[in-house]
Amino acid sequence: MSAKILDGKAIAAELRASIKTEVDQLISQGKQRPGLAVILVGENPASQVYVRNKKNACKEAGFNDFAYDLPATTSQADLLTLIDELNDRNDVHGILVQLPLPDHIDPETVIESITPSKDVDGFHPYNVGRLATRMTKLAPCTPHGVMTMLSKTGIELRGLNAVVVGASNIVGVPMTLELLNARATVTVCHSATKDLPKMVSEADLVVVGVGIPEMVKGEWIKPGAIVIDVGINRMDDGRLCGDVEFATAQQRASWITPVPGGVGPMTIATLLENTLQVAKSQ
Ligand code: NDP
Repeated sequence: MSAKILDGKAIAAELRASIKTEVDQLISQGKQRPGLAVILVGENPASQVYVRNKKNACKEAGFNDFAYDLPATTSQADLLTLIDELNDRNDVHGILVQLPLPDHIDPETVIESITPSKDVDGFHPYNVGRLATRMTKLAPCTPHGVMTMLSKTGIELRGLNAVVVGASNIVGVPMTLELLNARATVTVCHSATKDLPKMVSEADLVVVGVGIPEMVKGEWIKPGAIVIDVGINRMDDGRLCGDVEFATAQQRASWITPVPGGVGPMTIATLLENTLQVAKSQ
């Protein structure tokens, strides 16, 4: 068996195009253009790339993008003041603070300072709590983007045995909640999990977000399983690779996401989707 490719690049392009159409309709109805504020503190090269991609996606979808590229020396107090101003602005519908932040700034304080209704990353405890209680408002972008991709397979998630490898606040935990809400039976694995190969081998659906290149081996995959690889790892030769051994996993899976061109583009498209949702609700 050779898995079908779940083409995140194509699905994200389709989603961005439909968002642009909705933005054009809002404007033609005399409504406000969606606005996203993107705050970058410092000069982390990976963050600079992510922020650039987010700004480009904003422009392409017809959003206003408000960019704040702040020096690494910015104090937490100054950052919180800026967020307060953006919380109050009517033309800013979403606020995103690119993580990680410099060590002298506490990310939890920053995330909690964003008004939950503008927290388009979905990281505020209010929005995570809404997701956990099946009253979702703004869902974290990467796991929600994965759900959009999964819907394209046409496979019913209800009742599937799903294994999520990785339990971070950004990927694993909200992914678990999304799958639970879709009525899958979910097992969450992390660095203290005892027999990871066995756990993975029992899964009809595996979502991996660990940050270790090719950690999940193809031979662990149950024949016919769906494999979603959230990992993005830059190798010494500059190549990007995921957390799953793609070549061997592809021989066993029914569907698999590539890296690059899988989950990554969905994260940005979902960020736009969340921002549009806020703009439309006003
Ligand atoms: P974190 O480092 O925050 O979390 C990693 C998770 O993996 C933790 O829960 C950790 O367990 C678990 N883990 C570590 N080692 C093992 C192991 N040997 N076996 C099982 N679990 C293990 O990473 P992120 O969640 O932020 O990111 C994960 C990956 O996803 C990275 O490659 C990142 O680049 C990528 N990513 C991609 C995005 C996209 O848009 N495609 C968006 C966000 C992230 P424990 O909890 O016990 O420490």
